[in-house]
Amino acid sequence: MDAVAEILRLYAERGAAAYFGEEVSMTEHALQAAHFAEAGGAPPGLVVASLLHDVGHLLDAIPDNLADWRVDARHEEIGSRWLAARLTPAVTEPVRLHVPAKRYLCATDPDYVARLSRASVVTLTLQGGPMTRSEAADFERNPFFRDAVQVRQWDDCGKIAGLRTRSLGDYGALIQGFTHR
Ligand code: FE
Repeated sequence: MDAVAEILRLYAERGAAAYFGEEVSMTEHALQAAHFAEAGGAPPGLVVASLLHDVGHLLDAIPDNLADWRVDARHEEIGSRWLAARLTPAVTEPVRLHVPAKRYLCATDPDYVARLSRASVVTLTLQGGPMTRSEAADFERNPFFRDAVQVRQWDDCGKIAGLRTRSLGDYGALIQGFTHR
């Protein structure tokens, strides 16, 4: 099976599960993040990164109930590693960095913390809490820093029950553009 078919099948088979503590499924959340990326004028790589940023949640056995989620599952590492065998860094690096980007925004933007969903506040602690000043300064030197922060912000938007979006299959050609040749 080619990479695109494999990715789409993963969402079709496992994406209907609820997105922890939110009113949308994993697949709805993915499609909404991509929707907001496109609405924000994102380049194709960041649309795909927004779509696939939580693929790690579909790969790993993580408790359904947020209250049972006592250790951080590092879904960004699991997901980006799996994707890196299939897609280029333009996609996989923002995916890998979308949790550090949350920790960065919590450290540098007071309004950001106020806008976080309840579930996202709970997981923040498990993810290491806000970055320290020096962690934030290091993060800003990462070449994918801005991409990761943008994906994070589209990620945070994608939690709206009932929002109409495109469907998964609509993104096949776009994903194909980032496969290893
Ligand atoms: Fe997400």
